[in-house]
Amino acid sequence: MATVDPTLTVKEGKSAPANYAQPDILQTPVQFVKGVGPAASELLKRLDIQTAGDLLRHYPRRYEDRTHFREMISIRPGETICVAGTVLSAEAPFTRHGPPITRVTLQDATGYIECVWFNQPYLLKRFRELASRGGNIVAYGLAQESRWGLQIQSPEWEEMETGADSLSWNRIVPIYPATEGLRQGRIRRMIDSALTRYVNALEDVLPDSIRKQHHLLGIKEAIKAIHFPDSESDRECARRRLVFEEFFLLQVSAALRRLEYCNWRNAIRMNPQIDPWRELSRLLPFDLTLAQRKAIEAVIKDMASGSVMNRLLQGDVGSGKTVVAMAAMLYAALNGYQAALMVPTEILAQQHAMVFRQLLADSDWQVELATGSMRAREKRHSLARLADGSSSFAIGTHALIQEGVEFRRLALVVVDEQHRFGVLQRQALQLKSEAPHVLVMTATPIPRTLTMTLYGDLDVSVLDEMPPNRRPIRTYWRQQGQRSSVYQGLQKLLDQGRQAYIVCPLVEQSERLQARAARELAEEVAKERLLGYRIGLLHGQMNGSEKEKIMLQFRHHDLDVLVATSVIEVGVDVPNATVIIIENAERFGLSQLHQLRGRVGRGEHLSYCLLLADPQSDDAFQRLQVMAQTSDGFKIAEEDLRIRGAGEFFGVKQSGAADLRLGNLITDVELLEESRQAAVNIVETDPALARWPSLRKAVAHVHPSTELATIG
Ligand code: ADP
Ligand code: MG
Repeated sequence: MATVDPTLTVKEGKSAPANYAQPDILQTPVQFVKGVGPAASELLKRLDIQTAGDLLRHYPRRYEDRTHFREMISIRPGETICVAGTVLSAEAPFTRHGPPITRVTLQDATGYIECVWFNQPYLLKRFRELASRGGNIVAYGLAQESRWGLQIQSPEWEEMETGADSLSWNRIVPIYPATEGLRQGRIRRMIDSALTRYVNALEDVLPDSIRKQHHLLGIKEAIKAIHFPDSESDRECARRRLVFEEFFLLQVSAALRRLEYCNWRNAIRMNPQIDPWRELSRLLPFDLTLAQRKAIEAVIKDMASGSVMNRLLQGDVGSGKTVVAMAAMLYAALNGYQAALMVPTEILAQQHAMVFRQLLADSDWQVELATGSMRAREKRHSLARLADGSSSFAIGTHALIQEGVEFRRLALVVVDEQHRFGVLQRQALQLKSEAPHVLVMTATPIPRTLTMTLYGDLDVSVLDEMPPNRRPIRTYWRQQGQRSSVYQGLQKLLDQGRQAYIVCPLVEQSERLQARAARELAEEVAKERLLGYRIGLLHGQMNGSEKEKIMLQFRHHDLDVLVATSVIEVGVDVPNATVIIIENAERFGLSQLHQLRGRVGRGEHLSYCLLLADPQSDDAFQRLQVMAQTSDGFKIAEEDLRIRGAGEFFGVKQSGAADLRLGNLITDVELLEESRQAAVNIVETDPALARWPSLRKAVAHVHPSTELATIG
């Protein structure tokens, strides 16, 4: 049996491995799990596996039913199959063009199939050796027609050693996320060993009553069966139980957060006698849409209710969310309080500040800007006016949540483009005051069930209506070869007095390289494509006042064209800009393209979005097609979710979605709903979770932001 070295503890901060509170024995460093050892434990670290408990939670990514294999003769092209056969021959035919190929012929009692691998010349030796002794392998992949009969390209494969162990043969076999140097068979043996020794230490975080009611396996059975299921239905039961648990933890913490807000007795109550509507219609140059009215009504009601508002405002790009924010902030100001608006980019902060100042020009309200790159003197003044309460409106980037920013009587926090921030940043701003009301805004349209899960602690308002007189944006996808004609078309529109954005291709994560790409594109455009037009440049490396200057010039039509990086992605609003050309559009994600497109179509003129792209992958091709076909933000989001998967779609910042390992927010909606009910019930019956210590521990561990302290 493995001995545990007590001086060895798991290093903190070294990536967060399994997100589960574990009893001590499960914290045993993985190296001491029988059959692992120091060398393998190093490799396991690459898979984020540090402890015995992590190993138990290293779920298979798929399974192969190796109780019976497809007879080769019965296989048809287009099927994804798992076959077993003897290695008959292995060769590496000479290729004049293209990558080196390894070609292997497999045989079973009924026929042959060929497996090919590209660019892996080292495989040849292994397969020659297998062929020489008549070795057997299992191969998994897509069967395709080829010149020489059926073929599987780059299959996953595994040698079936003689006397192969019972973990890999004659059963439903788990296939794990692996890493170089660790073969599947080895991982299976390590997990099997961890199961033998540690599975009994697992604590069930699901209360018994819930397990019974929803017919869920116990944790020990579930973990055993997710690794080594006896049957397909066994596997499904295990998965169902584990997915339920993931969703459940997420939702319990959301329900707790919500409860916490409701319990804030000292919420700032606005005076219901104060009516903001007259002031609003005096200040606004347009009539509000019905959707905007409804959202503002809900906000006012929340803020006058005596408990803390916690509302999410969802509305597609261009639906007019800013006005709702302004109305809420104005209501706070009319009540004698301050309000803060936090946005993800400096450009957007500057723009909002400008728009607010314009709208409020005819009033006594003062607006302060707070961004990272402001000059020290200006910033001091701003901060002083917020601290002494002489300014009612604060607009800024996350500079607003930094130390040194203080308010005299902050009553409302608005977070624009919420998806760019994390829960924690939102909370940091809330902490600037006793118990401020919170309004978060996002253009990411998410189905209701998902909203409940990810933002379970929020009420939701939706702007499902665009301001009047908007005309649909015409979107075209053109190949790079057609660039000249695209730019010629642009000239015509510029000559009619319109303006345009040209978005330069996304180059890596480096802001510096990105800035260079933008400079080069601006030069090329100015010298070759748009001679005689006034062209400006905007990128992330410019300082605050440079950015502001350029945006002002563009807004005042002192520039015809703005060549920019994706810094303009969110929020920028210049209604006379009616064309956006996106260079190398295949490099952008779908939601990002939709956001960029949202920069145009904001005024009365017909707008155009031109995607210049030569996609190299299926995904990129699909993205461009979706863009060309629809400008419905909801459809786009659904497609994006489908193409990228939930983890990436919501981003790691939306803590919660990132913790899902098995659960799929799209295909598991029924479970999502079931677990939500269960979570709400539990929190209603016992908000302190006192009766369920292991659940309590798990929630605190998975979602540390949940304030268990206040309820425990
Ligand atoms: P988003 O929801 O993308 O943040 P904005 O708040 O930037 O949208 O609004 C987009 C544009 O629509 C702005 O130019 C804004 O002034 C204008 N707008 C907003 N509401 C109305 C309305 N009710 N009538 C006319 N124009 C409006
Ligand atoms: Mg906006």
